[in-house]
Amino acid sequence: MANAKEELLPVLLADLDLSEPNYLAVKCPDCEEAYGFHIDGASVVNASGQKLRVESKNEDSSARLDVQLENDPHDAKTFRGRRHAVSLLGWCEHCHKDYTLTFEQVKGTTYFSKSSTDISPE
Ligand SMILES: [Zn+2]
Repeated sequence: MANAKEELLPVLLADLDLSEPNYLAVKCPDCEEAYGFHIDGASVVNASGQKLRVESKNEDSSARLDVQLENDPHDAKTFRGRRHAVSLLGWCEHCHKDYTLTFEQVKGTTYFSKSSTDISPE
């Protein structure tokens, strides 16, 4: 049985392209496939409930950014700390899941967490 630390390290890097230093493929946190894992957006939420979400949609000359700003105070019990959280929003072609990879600032420490939602076609 994997310990909690191993389960909380879902961002894995593949050695697909070693021709450029510091340019590595990101693997899916569940199936670990490097081809088919997409990160298409990001969100930032602060302790007062402001939330900015940006998603890149379409490709090539039809590529567009969808930007949403919300100002809804959230439940203090669900938001830890007094600062902010930054999330990367992605999905996997193989697992059929949406992923949220979050870096959360609580006092002097940055915490990382992963959550997923099933998006399998019914
Ligand atoms: Zn996957």
